[in-house]
Amino acid sequence: MHYHIGVIRGDGIGPEIVNEALKALNKVSEKYHRDFKYEDILMGGCSIDVYGVPLTDDAIMAARLCDAILMGSIGGDAKTSPWYKLTPDKRPEAGLLKIRKALKLFANLRPAHLYPELRSACPLRDDIIGDGFDVMIVRELTGGLYFGKKETWVIDGVATAIDELKYSENEIRRVADKAFQIAMKRNKKVTSVDKANVLESSRLWRKIVDKEHEKYPEIELIHMLVDNCAMQLVRDPKQFDVLLTENMFGDILSDEASMIMGSIGTMPSASLNETAFGLYEPSGGSAPDIAGKGIADPIAAIVSAAMMLRYSFNMTEEADAIESAVKKVLADGYRTIDIMPGKGSEIIGLKEVSTAEMGDLIAKAI
Ligand code: NAD
Repeated sequence: MHYHIGVIRGDGIGPEIVNEALKALNKVSEKYHRDFKYEDILMGGCSIDVYGVPLTDDAIMAARLCDAILMGSIGGDAKTSPWYKLTPDKRPEAGLLKIRKALKLFANLRPAHLYPELRSACPLRDDIIGDGFDVMIVRELTGGLYFGKKETWVIDGVATAIDELKYSENEIRRVADKAFQIAMKRNKKVTSVDKANVLESSRLWRKIVDKEHEKYPEIELIHMLVDNCAMQLVRDPKQFDVLLTENMFGDILSDEASMIMGSIGTMPSASLNETAFGLYEPSGGSAPDIAGKGIADPIAAIVSAAMMLRYSFNMTEEADAIESAVKKVLADGYRTIDIMPGKGSEIIGLKEVSTAEMGDLIAKAI
C-alpha cells in the first residue's frame, strides 16, 4: 500500500523547511518499509508567478486526490513583494483560505508544549514554567472574520471598511465536538475562549459549546474571555489542557503560545476535516526576513509530518520515532538560531546548526 502525500512547499522558508520534513519521512519510509509517494502542488506566491492566481482549481483537485498534505508556508513581504499589489482575492493568503474551505478543514490543532531542553529559550520565569505545560489549541478554521463578507466604501471622501464575523451553530458544534473528543484522550479539561461579553457570535458560541458539553459529562468545561486568556497564557500556561476557540482568536493566541514554547519555528499544526484527511503545516508563516539564509527552524515542519503519520495514517510508532528524534537532537545540544538562548550558549554545550544540518541530525536520529 502506498500513501499519496501532496507537498505544498510554498514561499519564503516554506521550501527550506519542507525539505527537512521530507528527509524525516524518507527515513521513516526506509526504516519502517512505508511507501510514501509525493506530489508537488503549487500554492501561494509561487503559484501567482506561474498561473496568476494563488491556487488553481487543478491544484485543489490534486490536493483532494491525496491522502494528506504536507505544507510549508505561503506569503511574502507585504511592503516589497509584487504579490501585494494584487487585489486581496489574488494574494498568496487567499490561496490558503481557499484550500481550507475547499477541503473543509474546519479544525486546526496546534500543540503547545515545552520541550524540557528548550527551557532556556522560553521567556517565562522558572516559577511560572514549573514542570512545563502541554496545551492543545483547537482553532476553528473555516468560519469567522477571515471568511466573512468584506467591503470598503468611501462616502464624502471618508473610507469605511467592514469585515463580517459570522458563525452558524453547526460550525461551532463540529469544532467543539472535536475539542471534547481530544480532551477525552488527554486531561479532560476544555477551556472555551470567546468574547461573549460584547460579541453576539461569541454568545452563540458559548451556548452551543455548553450544549455539546452535555454529551461529555466527565469533561470540565471553563469559559474564558479572550483578553483574559491572552493574559493567562503567560501568567499560568499549566492551567490549560485543551483550549477551544474561533478562527481569529486562535490565530493570535497560538502565536502567543508558540513563543512560550521558545520559538514559532517549533510549533506544528494539523488542519482536519471529518475524515482522516488532513493538511499539516508549521504554525508560523513564510518568514521572509530569514528566507534563503539557511537558518530557519525546521522542527515545526518535521513534527507536522509526525502529526500527519499519527492523525491521517494511524502510524503511531513512526510518529513517535520522529518526535523522539527531535527530542534527542535537542538533548544533544543542537539548536537553530531562533532557539539559541544567546551569549554563553556554547559554554553550556549548545551548538548552533543550519536548517539543513538540523534536518540531517533529526533524520539520522530516527
Ligand atoms: P512569520 O510567522 O512568517 O514570521 C514571524 C517571525 O517569526 C519572524 O521574525 C520570522 O523570522 C520568525 N519565524 C517564523 N518561522 C520561523 C522558523 N521556522 N524559524 C525561525 N524563525 C521563524 O509571520 P509574518 O512575518 O507576520 O508573516 C510573513 C508572511 O507569512 C506573510 O505573508 C503572512 O501572510 C504569511 N503567513 C503564512 C502562514 C501560512 O502559510 N500558514 C501563516 C502565517 C503567516
